[in-house]
Amino acid sequence: MTTSLTSGAYPPQLTQEEEQYLIATIKDWSIANGLAVRPPPTVIPAEADPEGIAAINTPVTVFPSPFPRVCFEQGRVVQNSYNELYAAVSRDEEFISQIVKEVAGGDEFIQKLWDIHLKVKEEGYTQPLSLGLFRSDYMVHQDTSTSPPSFQAKQVEFNTIASSFGGLSYHTSRLHKYLADTEYSLLQAPISSILLDLPENSATEGLAAGIQAAYHAYADSKLGHPKCVIFLVQPGERNVFDQRHLEYQITKAKPSIPVFRLPFDKVLTHTTIAGSPKRQLLYHLPRNPSKVYEVAVVYIRAGYGPGDYPDQRAWEGRHHLERSAAIKCPTVLTQLAGTKKVQQVLATPRPSSAPSILGRFIKDDTPAAGELWRTFTNIYPMDTSEAGLEARKKALDPQQAESYVLKPQREGGGNNIYRGAIPGFLRSIPEPHWGSYILMELITPPPVSNIILRNGHLEQGGVICELGIYGTCLWNQNTGNVRHNEQAGYLLRTKGDSSDEGGVAAGFGCMDSCCLV
Ligand code: ADP
Ligand code: MG
Ligand code: MG
Repeated sequence: MTTSLTSGAYPPQLTQEEEQYLIATIKDWSIANGLAVRPPPTVIPAEADPEGIAAINTPVTVFPSPFPRVCFEQGRVVQNSYNELYAAVSRDEEFISQIVKEVAGGDEFIQKLWDIHLKVKEEGYTQPLSLGLFRSDYMVHQDTSTSPPSFQAKQVEFNTIASSFGGLSYHTSRLHKYLADTEYSLLQAPISSILLDLPENSATEGLAAGIQAAYHAYADSKLGHPKCVIFLVQPGERNVFDQRHLEYQITKAKPSIPVFRLPFDKVLTHTTIAGSPKRQLLYHLPRNPSKVYEVAVVYIRAGYGPGDYPDQRAWEGRHHLERSAAIKCPTVLTQLAGTKKVQQVLATPRPSSAPSILGRFIKDDTPAAGELWRTFTNIYPMDTSEAGLEARKKALDPQQAESYVLKPQREGGGNNIYRGAIPGFLRSIPEPHWGSYILMELITPPPVSNIILRNGHLEQGGVICELGIYGTCLWNQNTGNVRHNEQAGYLLRTKGDSSDEGGVAAGFGCMDSCCLV
């Protein structure tokens, strides 16, 4: 049995005139406020925009989607514990080495990241501080064993690198608030703004505060250079305004903080490392070589997948950053802490006599550990352990596989294998590589309807929402001392209910905001 989140008709039925009016209003508000992306060539071909001046509306829902308040609060409340948990995981080198060992056989990318850590460790890390701009993603699980059915936020994944959309999600919350104040009450089937409980969203400010905290924690340059923040980005990034919003927010600080965008493939061209033992990272402004900055923070929005490492030079660039004194967001260890394998191992229930693995990082039997446990869903290894062999049976059976998603250790969307495609996929890869995947139960949220505005057209129907809660954490990798631990706003991403993947940048999903019910 499933249950709907709203009793009345939601979203309201729109007349054709109303549709046209809302489209025009959202189009203008979005561009006027930077709720925008650079167009993909399928929307505006490169020949039509040779100078790259075009920007288009971010796909967005016309109304905020109803979302259970209990789940929203659950995600918010647990975020500080998640920050602490992943800081602790990232400090546990032995644990991460075990994780790497388990997946590296079928995953050269993870092995190469680990090799960078080993190489820097041999030389000695010079920067004890580590910055995390995290995002924990959830879907609503409905427990139908209770009457009425109850809702729980279940974690889809935990992101430790390039957790994106904070800048755009803040503006999406503002867009829906604006529409609630001006438009929704004027519809023929009106919604009163009093009925819309739209939570504040501090994503841009919160994420910027994390970077600012790290910037201030980095001591003034002994070399006499001004300090700066580097945004390490993918060349040709289309989601650039999301990043710019964050940059502008950081720059707003008084005195102002210099922020520079550096393409991932230009690290070795525009930065150098000052002498030992400190190994300061120096940024040489390409447009004015007389300007040199000491990099306090490298905020990494690239390098999370193999595509960014086409050659050895790219790996050298990552190693160069890792061995420098700049505070990395994230370090290689923190990136590895965010693998799906770590999530699976943490979510493994405690055997009757032994302590849980989660207990290695967060004291067991505390309210915080309980809150974390409640967000876990069933995730299984695909190795040759007893649980792994059991999972392999499910994954290979076409009927049972319908309830699962198979995930490799990858980020950025488009990498997972769903339901009926799992058995055939597994048979197509060598069996010794199966252990580098995890098998996760699909979460099936209650049905919600909404209207998506994408490329000027409305798409109406059933949607699936995914909540992301941002968190920022600055900790000392040696001592474990946590200097900054904050919850930092939210993201709601929504996709049509027939799509498996929900990536906005990948073209499947859209931006949304929560209407708490
Ligand atoms: P990535 O790191 O590539 O974003 P995710 O684990 O977030 O990988 O998976 C991508 C998308 O697949 C999610 O945004 C969600 O739409 C869907 N998905 C992943 N895991 C589940 C799950 N357990 N239940 C339902 N949908 C899922
Ligand atoms: Mg994801
Ligand atoms: Mg991810």
